[in-house]
Amino acid sequence: MADRTPASNRWPRRYGVLFILLGLLILVEVLTVFAVLASQRFATERALREYSHELLRNVVDETRENAAGYLRQAQDAVILARNLFEAKLLPSDDATLLDQFFLAQLRVVPQIDGLYFGDPKGNFVFSKRDPQDPASGYLTKIIDNDKSGDDRVALINRDGVLTETGRRNDPNDAYDPRQRPWFKRAVAAEGEIWTDPYIFYTSRQPGLTVAAGVRDESGNIIGVVGADIALSALSEFLKTQRIGTSGAAFIIDPSSNVLAHPHDKSLTHVDPDNKLRLTRIEELDTVTARAGAQLTRHAPDLHSLRDTVYDKFDVNGVPYLSMFVPLFSDGLNHWIMGVYAPEDELAQKIREGQRESIFLGVAMSLLVVTAVVLIGLIMLRPIHTLQREASEDPLTGLLNRRCFDDFAAKRLATTVRQQKPTSAIMIDIDNFKAINDHYGHTVGDEVLLAVARRIGRGLSDGDLLARYGGEEFAIVLPDAKLDQGLQIAERLRHSVSSSPVKTSAGRIDVTISLGVAERDSAYNNVDKLLHRADQGLLAAKREGRNRVVAV
Ligand code: GH3
Ligand code: MG
Ligand code: MG
Repeated sequence: MADRTPASNRWPRRYGVLFILLGLLILVEVLTVFAVLASQRFATERALREYSHELLRNVVDETRENAAGYLRQAQDAVILARNLFEAKLLPSDDATLLDQFFLAQLRVVPQIDGLYFGDPKGNFVFSKRDPQDPASGYLTKIIDNDKSGDDRVALINRDGVLTETGRRNDPNDAYDPRQRPWFKRAVAAEGEIWTDPYIFYTSRQPGLTVAAGVRDESGNIIGVVGADIALSALSEFLKTQRIGTSGAAFIIDPSSNVLAHPHDKSLTHVDPDNKLRLTRIEELDTVTARAGAQLTRHAPDLHSLRDTVYDKFDVNGVPYLSMFVPLFSDGLNHWIMGVYAPEDELAQKIREGQRESIFLGVAMSLLVVTAVVLIGLIMLRPIHTLQREASEDPLTGLLNRRCFDDFAAKRLATTVRQQKPTSAIMIDIDNFKAINDHYGHTVGDEVLLAVARRIGRGLSDGDLLARYGGEEFAIVLPDAKLDQGLQIAERLRHSVSSSPVKTSAGRIDVTISLGVAERDSAYNNVDKLLHRADQGLLAAKREGRNRVVAV
């Protein structure tokens, strides 16, 4: 098929430019998305660190508040009792009344495990939650050194509403409050004293004690009042703190004793010599132990730890983030709170965000590229149409004369440069006026179109075909010598004349006359070449039509 439509000549190059621009646009888009993602990835590390630090810090803040609450409640209870003693509103020698007062306090202050009062004579009143039933039972121990018999030490059981449920004596109890560290320290101190965490004598559970000396007007000690706080309550609280799905928060003292841990099986440890002591951090689960080991590498002396220690470590190939921070900054004690969590759990949210933004970036790019292509096509369409209209014959869709002259000149110049031959054919429909006159102009048009198609089908790809005038066609055959041109012309003539053309008015016999010329080296001018072919055409007409004449 020959180059007949303007599009096949003009548009490939224009589309080429369009495709290059489009390619560049897509490239810029892709590069932009990658640049954004790369910078985001860079920022992710930082964001992850900040996010996880914030998450861990939240847990620390809440735990600090909770732990401080426990300690304050106990301290307040001790101060209240001391003030009541010193104001003589509470008699220090009435064990039954003291017990009632302590039990009343225990019922409303769940943070306190037990309240007690010991005096310099070794008398002692100790009201505490029943270790067998801490939720709803109470146990009181009263040591009355004025009694010397079996009833010197009495143990009283009570239920949740303080009704006595049992009472017995324990002649073998050798407990002496005056020998206890809290008593000795409170007698020697001005205000309240805090013990380090230790294992309670009766419950064998880890806890700590706040105590204060009670004095008369002349400053003499009349006793010591104390409150016990069970550390298990703190562990219970830590269990409620969620840090990812497998992170944990815990509290240790500066000697690396574990005071509270959500995974506690037991916070007490029995030494080989049968002595009870607090569990040490290195005796807990692998991750907690590892976190502790990392901490002591950063801060060998935990007593002087003032700043937050952030760390990252691996356990069995799983990366963990940890954070250690002094729990109280006011010197109440030197407890240290530790938090750890697998990095992946903390990073999950951020990674999700990253995936989302990758998706968004790609989607946005596709959208922009699609929009640009659509807008480009829509904007180019009128230009495209205009250009078609300017170069195309509306009836046959062939190149018009103006456009043909243009292309033919270029084609000719190329073949001259390549030293190849070129031939031209001019065609005119025979007695077309008669067809018009006989069948009417519309049928004439149908014949014109049918002839154009037959001619087009008879040509090959590089050939150039145009409607040159009313019922005239011009052809340029690059790389064809005159005898080849003659052959082609003869084939065209035959293709038109061999069978009648089908029209709305029936089948009509049509013939064409053709003139052929070859460009000789001096004639590299289209007009001259076509003119010579036209002379052949005129000769063909003269010689009787429906024939080919070569010049
Ligand atoms: P010949 O070329 O064989 O000497 O005779 P002819 O009848 O073809 O002679 P001429 O060139 O004088 O007539 C050409 C006619 O073609 C005149 C014109 O009305 C008609 N014509 C030109 N363009 C069109 C067109 O687009 N459609 C139709 N139907 N007729 C056209
Ligand atoms: Mg004619
Ligand atoms: Mg004519």
